[in-house]
Amino acid sequence: MNNTYQRIVLAARPQGEVTPDLFRLETVPLPELADGQLLIRNHYLSLDPYMRGRMDDARSYAAPQPLDETMIGGTVGEVVASRHPSFREGDFVAAMGGWAEMAVSDGAGLRKLDTSAVPLSAYLGVVGMPGMTAWYGLNRILELQPGQTVCVSAASGAVGSVVGQLAKLRGCRAVGIAGGPEKCDYVVRELGFDACVDYRGGDLRGDLKAAAPDGIDGIFENVGGPVFDTALARTNPFARVALCGMIAGYNGEDIPLRSVRVLLKNRITLRGFIVTEHLDCWPQGLAELGSLVAAGQLKYRETVSQGLASAPEAFIGLLKGRNVGKQLVKLV
Ligand code: NDP
Repeated sequence: MNNTYQRIVLAARPQGEVTPDLFRLETVPLPELADGQLLIRNHYLSLDPYMRGRMDDARSYAAPQPLDETMIGGTVGEVVASRHPSFREGDFVAAMGGWAEMAVSDGAGLRKLDTSAVPLSAYLGVVGMPGMTAWYGLNRILELQPGQTVCVSAASGAVGSVVGQLAKLRGCRAVGIAGGPEKCDYVVRELGFDACVDYRGGDLRGDLKAAAPDGIDGIFENVGGPVFDTALARTNPFARVALCGMIAGYNGEDIPLRSVRVLLKNRITLRGFIVTEHLDCWPQGLAELGSLVAAGQLKYRETVSQGLASAPEAFIGLLKGRNVGKQLVKLV
């Protein structure tokens, strides 16, 4: 085994948009394993919108990414050496291995993965944190009844694609909002949403009215801004909102709510949530998602960039909406 590996550290904090020069690729020595530790070769790195927030030195629900340290990130990989009693060489695990080819772990927070029916990479998406986000927001916040309509923004993405499919399995009408005709086509034809509105199409209000003729009973919000305002304006009385993400504002832009009046007028319940604060639900949710994927009832797509060095550009692409489905980096 090579006694060095590559990693990417955060070199500087962004002022607005993320640029490649904020990251630095480094070659570092592989540490000796101590008793109780294991070494993982990361096969895939997950790129997620939350990483943009961590790059800022701002007060939030999570601590900022420290400068000159390995960028935070979820990974799946194979145990290649172990001095830990519960893990053996050849085990596949999900970890927070970061933007790096290798990771040393003491076993805390690791999840052993069964790759017989679910591909390894899917544990970072549909059967991982994004899938759980969809599951939690839909089942624990929106709690829709069959026949009701859910509207989900960033519908072709890692979270949104699962929201709509789970809603369909509950007997709901699923309406997506996504950027561009190709993404909308994928959302309807491949994922089985009832309709998908292209928010760049020029008539979001009119198109959403046509797509949700009976109004909206639940909003799963991933974007914020005009997309959210327009969905709110079409809500039915007592609609619920699972406020999951506000990607339109992750570069620091203010994203005001156009009118608060609709919240009162329609007696709306709005709840923000952070999926990692609900770990008690993960075993149930992940088991359900895994069974659905294994049975072919939950479809997903991945946008995969090749090699660790491609991670910064792939991350910038994710923040600009260039991905369809889960954005991954293949490391092996
Ligand atoms: P996606 O795979 O959906 O990728 C991001 C997508 O956001 C882009 O492809 C793009 O799709 C869309 N987008 C819409 N508007 C904008 C905009 N103004 N600028 C940039 N992109 C835009 O990401 P995820 O599924 O991983 O995450 C979706 C949302 O869920 C994010 O807001 C994320 O922060 C949030 N999240 C929240 C969690 C929680 O615990 N609360 C956990 C996980 C994710 P399009 O081309 O269609 O616009």
